[in-house]
Order: sequence, then structure tokens, then C-alpha cells
Amino acid sequence: MTALPTTTGQKLGLVIDLDTCVGCQACATSCKEWNTGGYSAPLTDSDPYGKNPDGAWLNRVHSYDVGEGATSRTVHFPRSCLHCETPACVTVCPTGASYKRASDGIVLVDPDTCIGCKLCSWACPYGAREYDYADGIMKKCTLCVDRIYNEHLPPEDRVPACVRACPTGARHFGDLGDAESDVSKLVRDRGGYDLLPEMGYKPVNKYLPPRPRRDATTTSCAPAEAVASSSGTAIEKLFAFADKILSR
Ligand code: SF4
Ligand code: SF4
Repeated sequence: MTALPTTTGQKLGLVIDLDTCVGCQACATSCKEWNTGGYSAPLTDSDPYGKNPDGAWLNRVHSYDVGEGATSRTVHFPRSCLHCETPACVTVCPTGASYKRASDGIVLVDPDTCIGCKLCSWACPYGAREYDYADGIMKKCTLCVDRIYNEHLPPEDRVPACVRACPTGARHFGDLGDAESDVSKLVRDRGGYDLLPEMGYKPVNKYLPPRPRRDATTTSCAPAEAVASSSGTAIEKLFAFADKILSR
């Protein structure tokens, strides 16, 4: 058993806008290159040019068709570690390799003490852990901890690689423990949502629901408040769908 901090100074995390994500995979590709691409050689995965290429992707984007007929739409759903406040992926770890930082709330894996037992991946209901067969250890999103505090990088690059790469601005990074931060305001304004809240893991990352589609009689997006009240049922259905996918 590995203990969790009772409180954290910050709650750093991502806010992902399902309304503006276009499923381009730029975030996944940028994450892959920064975190698991290797030094001076991009192909660390198994069988990269063969029939069964495989490897660790710490951020994956899934695309789903939701609804039927005129109301159907494609929703792109990026998935990575949510840096939960009370995650069992940490408490099940027998060596202390998985841990949550008291300073900023980031959940990390120490590669020197991970024994590759995979208990954490069984404990994570979000499928956010990735076993790296090449390295024999568990990996996961680090919120690019080696970028966000890196004073050798220009200020605009001190964000997770996925956030920097997203061409539509669908990914936001900040302190969700600060009620006045931009990300907290965004969550409040847009009705940000927890994935699988019933699990009790208290994910820090939030998802912003898609706005209703514009139809032939509508020329502009509805305000977020109107969306929340007019289409609550559709949004609830969408997130219930996402929860169902995660529960598989
Ligand atoms: Fe752990 Fe999964 Fe939560 Fe990340 S999303 S902190 S891996 S339980
Ligand atoms: Fe979506 Fe942005 Fe990722 Fe592209 S880069 S898949 S738009 S979150």
C-alpha cells in the first residue's frame, strides 16, 4: 500500500473541450514524441515497421458516433490520466513507485521502483495506465512535468505537449484547486464534468460537454448557459455513453 497526501498545494490538471476537439490526434502525437519517443531516435516501440506495431501512448483519442438521424454527431474523446485526488492506482502500488505529489497533485510513476506488476492498471477505471513492454514498467501521463517547470523553455512552451499542440485550443491546463484560475472559471461557465464520479476517485481533469449542433435555422452557437438548460438530457446521455465506454 502506498499512502496519498491528505491535501495538495495545487490541483494541476487538464480541461478538455469536447465541443472543439476535432479528433486530429495532434495531442496524442505530440505526447508520444515528447514522452515516449526516445532520444535521438523516434521509434522505441515494438515492431514499429512490422505487422503488429505496438507501444505506449499516454494520451489516446477515441471517436464515436452518438445519436441517430438528424441529431447524430461524431464526438472525439481524448483519454489520459485524470490525476485523481483519491486514486486507487496509487494506494494499490506495493513498492511506492506510484505516487501523488503533495505540492501540485500530479500522479507519477518512479521508473526505478516500478516492478511492472500492473496492479495500478487494474485499479484505474479510466484505462489511463500504459504498460511499456520495451522498458518493462508502467507509464502514464505526467502532465509533462519536465516541461511545465522547465525554465530553459520559453514561457509559452511550459505547458503539457498536448496543450501546446492542439490546433483548436480544445485543451486547457491549470490549477483546478484555485477557484479563480482560468480553468476553474471555464469549468463553471461550461458545466465541466467528472468522468465516472460514482467511482469516488475524484478526477482532477474535467471535460466540457459539446454544445448543441447548429442546424439550418441557426447561424450562431448558443450561449453555454442556454446549452446547459436546453440540452441537459442530451449531454447527460453523451457522458453516460462515455462512462459506458470506460466501464468496458
Ligand atoms: Fe490513477 Fe487512472 Fe486516476 Fe490517473 S486516471 S490518477 S492512472 S486512477
Ligand atoms: Fe482534439 Fe486538440 Fe487532441 Fe486534436 S489536438 S485530437 S483537437 S484535443
